This record gives sequence, C-alpha cells and structure tokens, in this order.
Amino acid sequence: MTILITGGTVVNASGPIPADVLVEGETIAGMAARGSSVAESWRAGAERVIDAAGAYVVPGGIDGHTHMEMPFGGTHSVDTFETGTRAAAFGGTTTIIDFAIQSKGRSLREGLDAWHAKADGRCAIDYGFHMIVSDVNESSLKEMDLVVDEGVTSFKLFMAYPGVFYSTDGEILQAMQQASNNGATIMMHAENGIAIDVLVAQALARGEGDPKFHGLTRPALFEGEATHRAIQLARVAGSPLYIVHLSAAEALNEVLGARDRGANVFAETCPQYLFLSDADLAREGFEGAKFVCSPPLRPEVTHADLWRGLRTDDLSVVSTDHCPFCFKEQKELGLGDFSKIPNGIPGVEHRMDLIFQGVDQGEISLARWVEVTSTTPARLFGLFPKKGVVAPGADADLVIYDPEATQTLSASTHHMNVDYSAYEGMTIKGRVTTVLSRGVVIIEQEAYVGRAGSGRFLERGLNGLLR
Ligand SMILES: [Zn+2]
Repeated sequence: MTILITGGTVVNASGPIPADVLVEGETIAGMAARGSSVAESWRAGAERVIDAAGAYVVPGGIDGHTHMEMPFGGTHSVDTFETGTRAAAFGGTTTIIDFAIQSKGRSLREGLDAWHAKADGRCAIDYGFHMIVSDVNESSLKEMDLVVDEGVTSFKLFMAYPGVFYSTDGEILQAMQQASNNGATIMMHAENGIAIDVLVAQALARGEGDPKFHGLTRPALFEGEATHRAIQLARVAGSPLYIVHLSAAEALNEVLGARDRGANVFAETCPQYLFLSDADLAREGFEGAKFVCSPPLRPEVTHADLWRGLRTDDLSVVSTDHCPFCFKEQKELGLGDFSKIPNGIPGVEHRMDLIFQGVDQGEISLARWVEVTSTTPARLFGLFPKKGVVAPGADADLVIYDPEATQTLSASTHHMNVDYSAYEGMTIKGRVTTVLSRGVVIIEQEAYVGRAGSGRFLERGLNGLLR
C-alpha cells in the first residue's frame, strides 16, 4: 500500500521541517517539501492520503525497557505481550525491547526460548530482547556470544536483589570481559542490594512495614555508590555500560564524570522519576504501594537534576521500566510488609506523552524529545537507521502527534492491563492520533486497528554510539 502523509511537520533528532512523507509497503520511500511538484505527484499516485496538518510526524517511539509477563515474587506482571504492545502503540511506541530472563541454575538458551514463546505471534509492534544474566558461570559466559549472534546484543546484570538476580562484583566483571570481546553492551541495575537488605531487615524489625519505608531503605547514596562501582568495573573490563532506570543525582554525577572522561557509559531515566516523588510513596494508607519500584521514587528536587541530565545528554534515553502489577491482590501481597510489594509501575503507554510535557514546559526541545524517546535508543540498541528516524529507507514506523490536544490520564481510559494509573487524573498536553507500524496503520482516530502478531522480532546490531 502507498500512503502519503501530508501537511505535517516532520520532527527528527536533527530538528523539525515541514515535509510530506511517502510510504511504500513497509518503508519510507521519500520525503518532499510541502506543496512541491514532487509532493503533488505523489498525491496523485497514493492509495491513501493522511492529513497531518497542524501535527508532528515523528519516528515511532522505542521503549528500551519493558517487562511483559515477568515473574516476580510469586506473581507476574499483568501485561502480556499482546496487551502491553497494544498499549504501547496507543502511546506512539512502535518498538519495545523486553528482558528475557536466565533463571539461576538454567541456561541463557532456556530463558531466551521462553521469552520468544511468550512474544511470538502476539505483538502489535516490533520487539527485541535484552538478556538478564542471573547465573554467571563458564557455560553462561560462552552462551553470551551465541546470543549476540541471534541479535540479542545487550545483557543486564544486577547489583540488587540478592538471592534472585544479584551478581557479585567478580561475576559482573567476568560478564563485562565477555562483552568487551563480543561487542555487547552491559546494562546495570545499580543499587547496593547487600546493604539495602540490611536496612530492610532492620526497618521490618522496628515494625516499619508501610510502603514509604521501601524508599527509605534504598537511599540514593547506595545508587550512587553502585553506579560508581559499575563504572569502574566496566572501565577495567573495557565494556560499554548502560545504567538502567537512573533515579538519583548521586548516580547522575557518576555517569556525568565518566562521560566527561570519554568512557562508553550511558544512562536512561524513566518518566516516573521525572513526574512522581517520594511523596507519592508516602501517600495515606496502602496507596503508596502503587508507586513501589526500584530504585525508589526520589524527592521532588531531583526532577530538575534529571531534566538537566536529559538536556546535556548525560541521560541519553527515556525508557519506562514498564512492569505492571495490579493494586488489588498483587500489590496487596505487601500489606504490612513493604518488602513483599511487587516492584514496578505501569507506563509503556504514556512515555511519549509524558516526555512531551518537557517540551511544552521548556525543559527540552522538540528535537530532543524525539532523540531521547526514539533516535538514541535506536542507535544504542543497534536498530538504526531502520528505526529511530523519518528518512527514506527506514521502516515506516510513524506517529502523527497533535501538540494542541489535551488528555487526562486514568485507569478508566488507559489500555494497559492494570487496575490503576500512577498518573490518575493528570491532565497533559499533546496526544497521538495515528500510528503506523512498518507501513500499516495500527492506531487511527485514537482506536486500535492493528493485529496481534503483526509485530516482528528484531535481530539487533551492536551499540552504534561507542566512542
Ligand atoms: Zn526493569
């Protein structure tokens, strides 16, 4: 099918330009100046013309951090690959990269196969995988090379969650050495989990079981310390490092210092750290459980630090860490004991919209919005230039965005399969009107017209931002 998107302002990471976009089949065939003879000739041949007057035409969002159907503490996150990718599409995200998990005592192969089985034939948008390595040993280190050859080019390790995903510094160093040889990027959950567990046990012994103590037992200093340690380990091993869900100024300062020295260190933050705070964790009764994630929400003053980091590229990416657990029955597992509250906040649907508020409020430019939500994740995760850019030859993953519309976020209207919204009642500027995934319209007039299974697995290349 040939589709012409006309009258809009194309926004790439390089900036906005008024242009018409021609889509042929799954890819972008060309761009032409609005009203030019070329654009007019395309109009005559197009099977469909989409009017984008007054709207932005941006590359589909890439959410590099989601957890669909993820087991955690005896339950699992409630979005399936079908419901989660559909919700993502509603919000203008056309690619997710989810985390396949190697369990302790099992192989990477087994974990990766399990995640392929969950996702295969169910996704509304394209998807890739990172691999969580939770059992570093001789055979899993060797397996890392095989997995890279299958297009899974990033591995996540944990300095947190002793007994579950936790790796020692020695194990982390070995995985980093393997990555420095096979070209993969190491992703790190940087919190000092051993020290945190001591504070958690002490708090519970004092009878401090409310959700707010989740935050108080995971101090920002422990995130800063772990981030520092991860950076030194990566420097010694010579591997690229990507700090996931950075939430604290203490951690940002470590990343900033490493980047100033020219190290291949990158970091993402998430919308919850830019819009929510420890005051939400301290909400009355058990409400705070809705906001339990790790690292925890920080004091509101941190928001300004994180926006600054996004402006200066010390924070390169915004991902969601989408990990939805229902308030009823799931979050409630931690009534009276915050350490049993499943960790995670739903967000895959609202990332593009929430970060657009930064544009509306003057925190970042329009081009930077596209860069941190699409172009940089595409480069960093080996998807560029198929993804992350509106340009001839790229996949026709396109979002038409109305900057003047307003919407109110609510569990009663969102499409994620979860019974609450962390942003309930928040009115925001801007909204997705139309979404194309590889040349097929999947969201139209705010309705889903796509198909489960049309999304394909993406074999990713290596990190394209290394210096
Ligand atoms: Zn995560």
